[in-house]
Amino acid sequence: MPDALNSPSPRQLDVAIVGGGLAGLYAIHRLRGMGLKVRAYEAGSGVGGTWFWNRYPGARCDVESLEYSYAFSDALQQEWKWPERYGNQPEILQYINHVADRFDLRRDVQLNTRITSARFDPTAGEWTVTTDAGEEIKARYCVMAAGNLSTPRVPDFKGIGDFKGEWYHSGLWPHEGVDFSGLRVGVVGTGSSGVQMIPLIARQARHLTVFQRTANFSLPARNAPMETERERAHKAEYPARRRAAYDTPFAIGGHPKPTKSALAVTAEERNAAYESKWQEGGSISFLYAYTDLLVNKEANDTASEFVRNKIRSIVTDPTVAELLAAKDHPIGTKRLCLDTGYYETYNRPNVALVDVRRDPIREITPAGLRTGQREFELDAIVFATGFDAMTGALREIDVRTGDGAVLADKWAGGPLTYLGLMVAGFPNMFVVTGPGSPGVKTQMIASIEQHVDWIADCVGHMRERGLDRIEPSLQAEADWVDHVNTVADSTLYPLANSWYMGANIPGKPRVFMPYVGGFDRYKRRCDEVAARGYEGFTLSRRATVVA
Ligand SMILES: Cc1cc2nc3c(=O)[nH]c(=O)nc-3n(C[C@H](O)[C@H](O)[C@H](O)COP(=O)(O)OP(=O)(O)OC[C@H]3O[C@@H](n4cnc5c(N)ncnc54)[C@H](O)[C@@H]3O)c2cc1C
Repeated sequence: MPDALNSPSPRQLDVAIVGGGLAGLYAIHRLRGMGLKVRAYEAGSGVGGTWFWNRYPGARCDVESLEYSYAFSDALQQEWKWPERYGNQPEILQYINHVADRFDLRRDVQLNTRITSARFDPTAGEWTVTTDAGEEIKARYCVMAAGNLSTPRVPDFKGIGDFKGEWYHSGLWPHEGVDFSGLRVGVVGTGSSGVQMIPLIARQARHLTVFQRTANFSLPARNAPMETERERAHKAEYPARRRAAYDTPFAIGGHPKPTKSALAVTAEERNAAYESKWQEGGSISFLYAYTDLLVNKEANDTASEFVRNKIRSIVTDPTVAELLAAKDHPIGTKRLCLDTGYYETYNRPNVALVDVRRDPIREITPAGLRTGQREFELDAIVFATGFDAMTGALREIDVRTGDGAVLADKWAGGPLTYLGLMVAGFPNMFVVTGPGSPGVKTQMIASIEQHVDWIADCVGHMRERGLDRIEPSLQAEADWVDHVNTVADSTLYPLANSWYMGANIPGKPRVFMPYVGGFDRYKRRCDEVAARGYEGFTLSRRATVVA
């Protein structure tokens, strides 16, 4: 019998969701609540996304947990208790699993399922998404909730396959954990994940060698058990605090908006302010010390130098301190790390720092790792080398339309979107916190909820009017991309070779991807666009253009 007769007819949905992290789960909740038939497809064997995959030692959020949590249900935010100021990975994953159970989301998540392609049929006006098992799903809308930091980047060093020890990537950590006791360990990479794991691995391993290409700035997290009174006060005014957070550039509340330039005060006053922020802990508080730290190089230099001096005062070996003191980018223009005892770790006798900018890694050998000048014997290597950020997950899906548009081709020179939400030529496909949105520059759960709410309201608007197709105009998209670039160019961000620029992926176009005009400004713009009948988008019923 021909195969076609054996295979069941494709599943028919209103909305196919790619990803079962915080974004995919909220999309199920919100869209299903409107009576839509939805299903999320998740490559992992559990929900949670980032917090399912990144199980390395020391993994925790760097936005305080009272903020870094869902706001959509006041009952949820009242009842959940965070044990510490910054939740660690197991706690955050436990929270996400609790949300999945509490709102009965699991029945609409298909685990262990990778979406490999998505094709839009312009005649039927619907998407067909295909799984790695060959299952086809038809859906009017497709929501890409595939994550910005979900495509781990393992560098393709020569010889990696011959290494006799074990190697790991921070974003693909074994569920059973790793015991480094008695081992000689190498950590490659000193971004957020490296900075979090290095102090803990150093305590366990016999010897740790850190291979650093670029020094990053890190500030103390000052993590601590949650104070009962602080939690009570926060929860007493939770909704108002959330609203206040949405009115800030990073969607993070609790920090008074700065009023002065760093250059308008004396050096003594400035250093006292930085010292108080350093003692308080956290990155937003520090960057909020003055109005112009991210827009004026001279102002930024004062903050960068303050942190460099802190490093020099903590690290006893002056050569190591200078290597750790970042000098190639203004503070805050790369993801600012938060740590617990990171710089102090380099004072341990069993820790060495190697500058692989000066002496690059040549190859992995059976016994360890070789730079141009020497070989390091290692029993285990950890790659904390980050992700193909922001576009990686979508680049891995073959997204195209029946009339010949291919997303990979369209984005060959860098991602193009309108509001970070949709792509011209790809109707009915929404992207959550994608390039062109402020997502990665904010408390991301706030951005996820804002995006999913906007998408849900948009789909609701269309349903009420009997419409079933939406896409942005090429002009609106071009204007938005232009605006994103203009805003980025008015800041110091483009001065850094960061993953915001695609700089960590060889061959990736250097385009500044996030919108850095602020969450508050962006949200207002999205709301205005919707209020004006989805300005810049074309909404239609199959065949008839309506707006
Ligand atoms: C170590 C680390 C720490 C972080 N800390 C913070 C923080 O403190 N504050 C903050 O705001 N943000 C933080 N982030 C960013 C974090 O990614 C977001 O806060 C949030 O978890 C993103 O949720 P998401 O659902 O959008 O994406 P993800 O959590 O990345 O989930 C996307 C999911 O989609 C799945 N997927 C991708 N492609 C496919 C496919 N083709 N088919 C099927 N499934 C697919 C992936 O497996 C993944 O599970 C951190 C990120 C990392 C890596």
